[in-house]
Amino acid sequence: MSLYGMTLKDRMKKLTTALGLLALAAAAPFALVGCHSGRHEHHHRGAAAAKPYPLQNCVVSGEAFDHGKPYAFVHEGQEIKLCCKDCLKDFNRDPAKYLSKLSGTK
Ligand SMILES: [Zn+2]
Repeated sequence: MSLYGMTLKDRMKKLTTALGLLALAAAAPFALVGCHSGRHEHHHRGAAAAKPYPLQNCVVSGEAFDHGKPYAFVHEGQEIKLCCKDCLKDFNRDPAKYLSKLSGTK
């Protein structure tokens, strides 16, 4: 069917549906916390998606997570993982210090 064969109303309706789907598709990746798979590139726009935590241990204490689940959160678009909640207090005291530690590792 040619686009010109449709009425303006039909075209508008189709356009609205397409935009709605587009908005939904764009919003979906950001509804998830972080990008766990890394199998595909999302359309990163702004700071909506957090950068993955690059270390295998707690950035505050240097302790490994292996004794339990890491305490994970996102600070200004950077995913942070700590070995325990106590380290969160240290992190919050001087976030810039720990963030620079993270950006130094690639
Ligand atoms: Zn800790």
